[in-house]
Amino acid sequence: SATARKSLTIGLIPADGIGREVIPAAKQAILALGSDLPKTEFVELLAGFEYFKRTGTALPDETVEILKYDCDCALFGAVSSPSKKVVGYSSPIVALRKELDLYANIRPVISVRGNEKPSVDLVVVRENTECLYIKQEELTVGPNGKEARATRLITERASRRIGQIAFELASKRPRKHLTVIHKSNVLSVTDGLFRETVRAVPLLPEVNGRYNDVTVMEQLVDSAVYRLFREPQIFDVMVAPNLYGDIISDAAAALVGSLGLVPSINAGDDFVMGEPVHGSAPDIAGQSIANPLASIRSAALMLRHLGYTKGADRLDIAVDQVIREGQVLTPDLGGKSKTEEVVEAVLKKI
Ligand code: ATP
Ligand code: MG
Repeated sequence: SATARKSLTIGLIPADGIGREVIPAAKQAILALGSDLPKTEFVELLAGFEYFKRTGTALPDETVEILKYDCDCALFGAVSSPSKKVVGYSSPIVALRKELDLYANIRPVISVRGNEKPSVDLVVVRENTECLYIKQEELTVGPNGKEARATRLITERASRRIGQIAFELASKRPRKHLTVIHKSNVLSVTDGLFRETVRAVPLLPEVNGRYNDVTVMEQLVDSAVYRLFREPQIFDVMVAPNLYGDIISDAAAALVGSLGLVPSINAGDDFVMGEPVHGSAPDIAGQSIANPLASIRSAALMLRHLGYTKGADRLDIAVDQVIREGQVLTPDLGGKSKTEEVVEAVLKKI
């Protein structure tokens, strides 16, 4: 628990593109919390596509070992994904989620400017270890030409534990509402297993009636996206298999103005890693105009998960104030400020 920890060691993995601009911003924000946290140390760690191009590996063993044995938590920036398959390269973030068993990706999407209509306050809980992300793809040649196949894995164990995270979260929120996202009208075996397993979570013996006041709705993924745009206020917690969760959370990010605002954590039973939802944004990398707020909010989520509620609140409140005042914003939010100016504004509020 938070109170038991005498010091806090945070791994920083900026990786590629704007990850290198926004992770230092989160570090500065955490440092500004001072005595709200125990003695805090940062460890800079290597990974990413740029690192792969230099060395031939995307995720050095040393990075994984330091995370596992020396760090209490970590912040990850973003990785560039090559548009064509590169021999020997596979995404270090996907590997890290697997290595550290970070099976839940939790993505709160909230409108704060008050001018989004209607306003959004939801959390996407995305299964983080399986579905099409097991990347078992195959290309063969049949009588009519090339044939490509991908295997999609859904297990009862992974569906149950992501369902438990989602119910737990929903039970702690004011509206206590959970939407299960699937496509079991088409994929009755895989999505059928996901849907049934998640729905059965409240009946598990150890739950002991705790989720009785959570209302549950189901929604096919296509109609969920439609309703997300038409009436986002109906959603509270949304739980989804890996790929649908990815798409839904990017769509929800569009509703609140920018990908540059949306944070996430990758959480497992033993470790938590904050990660802005956006990618490496090669189109704006190196120009000092990346929005650092998603990264700072990811730090807040990570600290909250570890029990440092006061520090997390201070980061979130500072970010919200900067957005509401609207004076110091990066171009993605219609402003003219540089990354560093937004960081300074947040630090002042902290
Ligand atoms: P990747 O392959 O790494 O995901 P991408 O090209 O998909 O790269 P994203 O990072 O996903 O890029 O971003 C999508 C769009 O949103 C881009 O136009 C990018 O500039 C913009 N964007 C993403 N994050 C931010 C941010 N933090 N600040 C400003 N704009 C952003
Ligand atoms: Mg992207």
